[in-house]
This record gives sequence, C-alpha cells and structure tokens, in this order.
Amino acid sequence: MPLYDYRCANGHNFEARHGFNDPAPACPVCAEANVQRVIMSAPGVMQGMNANVSKNASKAELQSKWGEEAPKLREKLVSKLGEEAVNKHAPTLNTKYD
Ligand SMILES: [Zn+2]
Repeated sequence: MPLYDYRCANGHNFEARHGFNDPAPACPVCAEANVQRVIMSAPGVMQGMNANVSKNASKAELQSKWGEEAPKLREKLVSKLGEEAVNKHAPTLNTKYD
C-alpha cells in the first residue's frame, strides 16, 4: 500500500499507509478528522527532514538501478556491436552514475 503524507487542520504532519480508495485517517496526534493530503512534489512542501529523506532515498534508488542496469545493457550491446562501437556510440554506459 502507498504511504501518504497528511497535514491536519491543527498543523500536525503525519504519514499514513492505506489503500488508494480508503478515506483519509484522523490525525494521530490530536484526532482531528479534518486532514489534507500533502503532495510531496508541490513547491513549498519540500521542507523539513521528511522531504530530505525521501529525496535522498529516491536518488539512492536511481543510483542502484543504474549500477544494476548499465553493465547489463552494455554487455548486450558489446555482444551485438562490438567493444569499439559501444565505446564510440554509448560512452555513458562506461561511466558510473553519481
Ligand atoms: Zn493534529
């Protein structure tokens, strides 16, 4: 289930994991039922520790994805086109994502 960020009418931020069609949960701090989902990508909410953590996590995910996929892709291309052609036409596959 996806993890959603919420902000209640009294200004508490919290996260809740629930299904897409489920109603929004009440605030765990003050039990306020009037809560709004916070869209993380919107400008102005990318602040505080939570925003930094999820930013770093997705970058780390990208890095590990690239580290996994690039060598495989390169191997495929080398077997098809040869080492020289890959170095010439796809030099980015030789570099590490950072
Ligand atoms: Zn609250």
